[in-house]
Amino acid sequence: MELIIGAHVSYKKEEQLLGCVKEALSYGANTFMFYTGAPQNTSRTEIREDKVKQAKELLTEEGMKIENIIVHAPYIINLANPKTSAFALDFLKEEIKRVEKLGITKMVLHPGSHVGITKEEGIQNIIRGLNQVIDRTTKVTICLETMAGKGTECGSTFEELKQIIDGVNYNEKVGVCLDTCHIHDAGYDVSNFDEVLLTFDKIIGLSKLQCIHINDSKNERSSHKDRHENIGYGYIGFEHLLHVIYNEKLKGIPKILETPYVDKEYPPYKFEIEEIRNKKYNENLYEDIKNYYK
Ligand code: FE
Ligand code: FE
Ligand code: ZN
Repeated sequence: MELIIGAHVSYKKEEQLLGCVKEALSYGANTFMFYTGAPQNTSRTEIREDKVKQAKELLTEEGMKIENIIVHAPYIINLANPKTSAFALDFLKEEIKRVEKLGITKMVLHPGSHVGITKEEGIQNIIRGLNQVIDRTTKVTICLETMAGKGTECGSTFEELKQIIDGVNYNEKVGVCLDTCHIHDAGYDVSNFDEVLLTFDKIIGLSKLQCIHINDSKNERSSHKDRHENIGYGYIGFEHLLHVIYNEKLKGIPKILETPYVDKEYPPYKFEIEEIRNKKYNENLYEDIKNYYK
C-alpha cells in the first residue's frame, strides 16, 4: 500500500479547497489537512461549488483520495468548558455539515481544556458536548487528538480519550488522531513506538486510530509543552519518526506534518516529505528550504 503523507495547508477565500489541493501537490503530498477558515475564530465564507468541483477533478487526476483528507476543527472551541455556549456547539455542528458537504470524512478535534474545574468535570463536559453535536445522521468521524497535556488540556492519556469515547452515544463516529509530538510531550516513549501502539490497542483499540500527526518535539519527553519541531531536529529524532511513518500496523492511515515553517516564512513540507520518501535525513534542511523559496 502506498504511503499516505501530507501536510497542513492553508484554505484561502478565493481558491478554497482547490487552493489546498494545489498547495499539497506543490509539496509532493498525496493528502493534506486544513482549517475551513481562521482556526482562532468562527467567521467562515460560503463554500463555492465550482471550486469544490475543480478541486475534486484535480484530486482524481492526481490519484488523491478524498477519504484521506482531514479537516481540523477550530481550536477556539473548548468543549471541556462548562460555559461552552450554544453558539459554539451550533458552530461545531455547522462545521461538521460544511465538512460533509465537501465530501470529507475525517475531522480532528482537540478534546478541550478544563479551566477552573477538575479534569474529571472537564471530561464530562466534553462528553456532553460531543453528544450534542454527534447524532445518528453524522457522517464525518470526529478524531479526538492526543494532547501534550499543556496547561489543563484533557486527552493527554489514552485512558482519558477512551473515557470520552465510551461516553459518546454514537461513538462509532468517534476516532483518534495520534500526534507524535504530543504523545512524546505527554510522556509516551516514541523511541519504543511498538510498545506505545500495543498500549493504544489495549486501551482504545487500533481500529479507532484514523489520523497521525507527524512532528518532532522541541522539548524532552514528559515536558507537556507542545512545541513542534522539524523532523529529525528535535528530541524524538528522524529514525524514530520513520518507524512511526512506516509502521506496518498503520498502513493506509493518513500521516500529516505540522512542523514549523523555517524563519516563520518558508514551508518545510516539500523537503520533509522528500526525506520521508527517501528515508534519508537531510542535515541541510534549512538551507535547502531557504534556497528553494527565495
Ligand atoms: Fe491539533
Ligand atoms: Fe497535531
Ligand atoms: Zn501541537
